[in-house]
Amino acid sequence: MLADLHLHFEGSVPRNTLVAIAARNRHAFGSGDAFERALAASRQSRSFLRLFADCCRLYSSPADYREAAVALGKSLADELAHAEIYVSPEIWLRFGLDPSAVLAAIDAGLAEAENETGARLLLLLDSVRQWGPDAAERVLDLQERTKLPRVVGFGIGGEEDSVAAAAFRPAYERARRLGLGTAIHAGEWAGADSVAAALDALPLDRIDHGVRAAEDAAVLARLASSGVTMCVAPSSNLATSVYDGWAAHPLSRIIEAGAPVCLSADDPTIFATSTAEEYRRARGELGVSDAVLDGMRKAAWNARFGPR
Ligand SMILES: [Zn+2]
Repeated sequence: MLADLHLHFEGSVPRNTLVAIAARNRHAFGSGDAFERALAASRQSRSFLRLFADCCRLYSSPADYREAAVALGKSLADELAHAEIYVSPEIWLRFGLDPSAVLAAIDAGLAEAENETGARLLLLLDSVRQWGPDAAERVLDLQERTKLPRVVGFGIGGEEDSVAAAAFRPAYERARRLGLGTAIHAGEWAGADSVAAALDALPLDRIDHGVRAAEDAAVLARLASSGVTMCVAPSSNLATSVYDGWAAHPLSRIIEAGAPVCLSADDPTIFATSTAEEYRRARGELGVSDAVLDGMRKAAWNARFGPR
């Protein structure tokens, strides 16, 4: 049974659904092979943030999100028994959509996919780091108003060196009081210090990426003793040029240091991967043994949020 705890909604919607919604809404990705050309261009320039923003911009209503959620849920269920998917209410707000309505639509779409497939499809509320702690508090206001059982965690992503982790401490403590699991994107763009700062300042269950902790043996050792699970997404790291190639990826060193690690697809549509594919590539490209792969699959299962 495979679980993935680090996926982002708009980067995971299957290509055909994404293009169909874009065509209806007269978004550029709706015509011909525009999405493929944008993917190729972003691979060449190694700038995926703009592509992700374009993937967010193509939705014009909660109904679009519901349709995307059904397709996304069914496609994830091909491989996964348990998925935790980040959604970003503050991005919806900036694109003129009502966050409560979009969240309800996604909830309904995932419920439909769950009923059809039997997979568990849960949500994590994400705030954008460079938009600061006020945005994070607004995301938690939404959680207080809506309290959907499907929402099981809270995290922040975005530009890792923009706002200090400590600024988000009140938000993380509030998230815990609301019964949410907690995670943060760190150690991807910023170095080992960003992982140490997050561990110092925040009550954390998981770190998304965290791979650059490998640059500092003390931070790696600290991760190993902290019980915080790292959700590592190797293909994402290569596509965004955190590392030049598989030979440079530190996954094996992180595993050897004893930090709990599981593998994630992050944005499978954008990075042309899937969760099972990440495990296959770890074996094929990095020579990770079957026993260690099994351990990572179990680590994902152990670190999941929500009722057991
Ligand atoms: Zn991510």
